[in-house]
Amino acid sequence: MTDTKRLADLLFPDIKETPQELMDSCYPVRDLPQGALVTRFAPSPTGFLHIGGVFASMAAERAAHISGGICILRIEDTDKKREMDDGVSIIVNGLSDFGIRFDEGVKADGSESGGYGPYIQSKRRYPYHVFCKDLVEKGLAYPCFCTAERLSEIREEQEKAGVTPGYWGEYTSACRERSIDEIEALIAAGTPYVVRLRSPGKPGGRVKFRDVIRGEIEMEENFVDVVLLKSDGIPTYHFAHIVDDTLMRVTTVTRGEEWIASAPIHLQLFWLCGLKAPKYAHVPSIMKEDNGGKRKLSKRKDPEAAVSYFVEEGYPADAVMEYLLTIANSNFEDWRKQNKTASYTAFPFALNKMSPSGALFDLIKLQSVSGTVISLMTAEQVLESVLEWSERYDRELFELLNADKAKALQIFSIDRGGSKPRKDIAKWNEVRAYISYFYDELRQAEGEALEIAAEDQKAILTKYLTVYTPTESKDEWFSDIKAMCEEVGFCPDVKAYKADPAGYKGHVGDVSSVIRVAVTGRKNTPDLCAIMNVLGKDKVTERINEYLERI
Ligand code: GLU
Repeated sequence: MTDTKRLADLLFPDIKETPQELMDSCYPVRDLPQGALVTRFAPSPTGFLHIGGVFASMAAERAAHISGGICILRIEDTDKKREMDDGVSIIVNGLSDFGIRFDEGVKADGSESGGYGPYIQSKRRYPYHVFCKDLVEKGLAYPCFCTAERLSEIREEQEKAGVTPGYWGEYTSACRERSIDEIEALIAAGTPYVVRLRSPGKPGGRVKFRDVIRGEIEMEENFVDVVLLKSDGIPTYHFAHIVDDTLMRVTTVTRGEEWIASAPIHLQLFWLCGLKAPKYAHVPSIMKEDNGGKRKLSKRKDPEAAVSYFVEEGYPADAVMEYLLTIANSNFEDWRKQNKTASYTAFPFALNKMSPSGALFDLIKLQSVSGTVISLMTAEQVLESVLEWSERYDRELFELLNADKAKALQIFSIDRGGSKPRKDIAKWNEVRAYISYFYDELRQAEGEALEIAAEDQKAILTKYLTVYTPTESKDEWFSDIKAMCEEVGFCPDVKAYKADPAGYKGHVGDVSSVIRVAVTGRKNTPDLCAIMNVLGKDKVTERINEYLERI
């Protein structure tokens, strides 16, 4: 028996299978159409879902599904320090709120679906050990008994010498060259150890790869003997990535650009394991404009870094996805213009059309996208969404809407559905202010002020009360207003007024403004005739009388 075979059996006595046998028996090649991508989103269960995570998972999910492939949700919990109790459900529910659909992987309750699991890394000890044993047997990995103190000594020496930090070069000799008998004795004595890669790389060596988003990337190759298995037998991110993405038959790894720096380690590991590396698509970070420059959206400084922000503000999930697509693929907006009512899922999303520089996140643009998305919803959809949102975030609004859904539907139907729907609402927390004048409970008595003499306003409203008859027809409603104009000194026709401004106090538009402000308190509202019909004759009369008393 060779020494490396003996070492492999010593470190992994229970492992009998080779990686190939494991792959053939449990992780067969997937039966998918030509060109179909298998992607994954692989968060750590830290309990915080960053909008950048939604962006990256959207890219993974869209790329897979548009190609007829599979998207996996894998939980990377090898770093127990970063883990939170309900970390998994926060992520899974957070993503599903945004309509991000996984075909395989972990569900909110921690259960799993799919044939390529387990999908939680802490449950995958066996496959990691199978792959690690194989590397040890091939002489490409070895146990390292260096203590934490020894490692920090090495770090200090390297700092002083100004060389790349890490376990490489002369520092590795003690453990790299240890004899099998010595190792056996150390293990028998219970000495803790990690398993390290025996990197064949050299400082200055180069590695090249093609990133789907960034094109060709050339970097220094890895020459550090990185840790593969920690002393508790749990893999590092680097090793878990190789094993998991191989076994799960992932074709394209979409992950944050902060991982580019580690790509040389990963490519070397795939090569040494005799495996074909997947394609990499390093997704740009979400950036924010700050003081004329750009910086990463920060969990600490920017509330909008947390996905919960969008839920609490009441942005519809579709609107956020739609907006993320506009920053992901610059041709999305043109596509949207051609396909106004199609679901965003029909957009031919492409990873290679993503811009490699940071994706600039702009709340004003999101607001505008969201306003359009809401303007295209039916009144029923708006009501349903507002009820769902307000039940959690604005109880008073919820109670009012829920108590009279028919009235709420009438309100949300105003000016909806035409070829140019209004875009007054961009998020559900704007609904309260938007509809406040329909409810005495929400209305502020003081309305906006008009620059029309109080005497004239009084004359207009007093007259209007005598002619006002509720009508479904906007034309009839407007004719009534026109008909009374001359009597109160206003011109019934705007053009005629402009030709002779000195002959009148104002025009029909001013007359309806007075009525609008008296009834709603606002200078700008949707269709006033429809508003008055929702309020009903008694309420309109009451508001006008109240206003007459006030001015
Ligand atoms: N678990 C890693 C993270 O949360 C994921 C990296 C990857 O997708 O490979 O950053």
